Amino acid sequence: MRVGIAGGGSAGLLAACRLSQEGFQVELFEEDPEVGYPEHCTGIVRSDFFETIRYPELSRLVLAKYSGGTLHIGDNTAPIGIDTGSVKALMIDRPAYERSLSEIAESNGVRIYKSSKVSIRKKGEKYALLSQEALQSFDLVIGARGARANPFLRLLPGMQARVKLNQRISEEFVSVLASQDTPGFFGWLAPYGGGKFAKVGLAARSRVHRRSIASILSRFGMESEILGYYGGLVVVGGVTRASPDSNYLPLGDEGGQVKPLTGGGLDLAAFAVNSMLHDLVNGDTSLSGYKAWLRKLKQSLMASEIAARMLFGMPISLKWKLAHSLLDSPGVSRVLAASDFDEHSAVLKELAVSRLTAALIG
Ligand SMILES: Cc1cc2nc3c(=O)[nH]c(=O)nc-3n(C[C@H](O)[C@H](O)[C@H](O)COP(=O)(O)OP(=O)(O)OC[C@H]3O[C@@H](n4cnc5c(N)ncnc54)[C@H](O)[C@@H]3O)c2cc1C
Repeated sequence: MRVGIAGGGSAGLLAACRLSQEGFQVELFEEDPEVGYPEHCTGIVRSDFFETIRYPELSRLVLAKYSGGTLHIGDNTAPIGIDTGSVKALMIDRPAYERSLSEIAESNGVRIYKSSKVSIRKKGEKYALLSQEALQSFDLVIGARGARANPFLRLLPGMQARVKLNQRISEEFVSVLASQDTPGFFGWLAPYGGGKFAKVGLAARSRVHRRSIASILSRFGMESEILGYYGGLVVVGGVTRASPDSNYLPLGDEGGQVKPLTGGGLDLAAFAVNSMLHDLVNGDTSLSGYKAWLRKLKQSLMASEIAARMLFGMPISLKWKLAHSLLDSPGVSRVLAASDFDEHSAVLKELAVSRLTAALIG
């Protein structure tokens, strides 16, 4: 089977590696001259990410391990700490991750065409890839061109800075901020490098500016030296294409496989690749297992999107009350310890049930 992949970000490259490992003939087209750049992501993934992608040896790319967080809501309130008691998430070196995947893919025989922008076009009954040279046919065309390629997604502008902190902070906790600077989403400070460095960013319904980063840093009480800015579009909802009914399979951000409560897409793309590959390796070219997985994913993402719209749309004072109400209930540490980092809506539901139970019993 010949597979053509449009887009050499994390989703396209992972698909290329895993498909080529199973003996499929893969060609990948990336519009930028170098993989991994321009950088646009914090690189926070679930704690078993490297096992999920089936490359545990890449765990050398971990920059930090997180077991909890600190919620900063509004300007004049005390932060709320959350400690789950175990490692729930990792920060990975995202550019190095993509470089490593491209090396694995090339060593498996994948042909990677850099500086090669392609479009996905219909050729008869099937989809094909149109590059400057020609319209090329493939048995399967994977669209992994990122968020801009899917007009049905809800997107917010995001901006981030890499900073060197003037004081060392705990490396185990990510700080999250909901304030006037972050309407419709949130700001974050994710430490790494032994707590001496951090990625500080925000996404918001308004325009995001460099001065918003400065304002977030000051709200977190941090002085720092900015090492560089970068940004991109954060997916906060929209259509997850239900199924690849043709030979076109949208993957990663292009497929809307992103968690609306955080904008994180790396984990879901990895699950998507696993599910797709399971079908293909077993000769199921109609991808029935993958389609069933997508239907379930869609339900979970819709629930998260509703939760996200409610949470992010609330006035700051109500957010603060809700966070306290959910996180002060007696069962909270059990729920957080057992929670799956990816199941945001399920965790919120469990917290609400735990709060309600405590209120009824108490
Ligand atoms: C500020 C910010 C912080 C984020 N933090 C996190 C995080 O901590 N954790 C997390 O999981 N997610 C995070 N995300 C989201 C994450 O970056 C995306 O979900 C992820 O990059 C999606 O991977 P992808 O391969 O689908 O798309 P992309 O990474 O966007 O890759 C698409 C690739 O396709 C190429 N391309 C585009 N069009 C064409 C074309 N026509 N022809 C050829 N090539 C093309 C692009 O150059 C690019 O290399 C963040 C996003 C932003 C903006």
